[in-house]
Amino acid sequence: MTCLFCRILQGEIPSKPVYSDDLCYAFSDIQPQAPTHVLLIPRKHIPSLAFATQEDTNLLGHLMSKAAEIAREHSLEGGYRVVLNTGDDGGQTVHHLHLHLLGGRSLAWPPG
Ligand code: AMP
Ligand code: ZN
Repeated sequence: MTCLFCRILQGEIPSKPVYSDDLCYAFSDIQPQAPTHVLLIPRKHIPSLAFATQEDTNLLGHLMSKAAEIAREHSLEGGYRVVLNTGDDGGQTVHHLHLHLLGGRSLAWPPG
């Protein structure tokens, strides 16, 4: 198994857990870009949002609502950003769909 995030899900590569259930896993980003930088991944290997299908609709909704729940737990009342980099032009470097939850500082817009 070569996918980095699948290896994290298997426990082959250590990670700092934030949240876990039967559909998804959240952990701290190894190179945080904000005081809170959590990655939220489905346990199902989907290479990117571009590969998601109709049958993933509930799973994607689950990820979004969990991102909001984790944001509440991290007291991000001032706001936060959920990012889903997709493909090379989208800046995706790990090819297992993941949401970035960024917060704890004022974030610039538009991104680079
Ligand atoms: P992306 O560029 O959207 O594909 O995001 C990949 C993210 O994974 C980056 O923010 C990396 O810092 C993060 N990352 C890479 N390897 C690890 C790891 N072993 N543990 C936690 N986060 C990682
Ligand atoms: Zn994977």
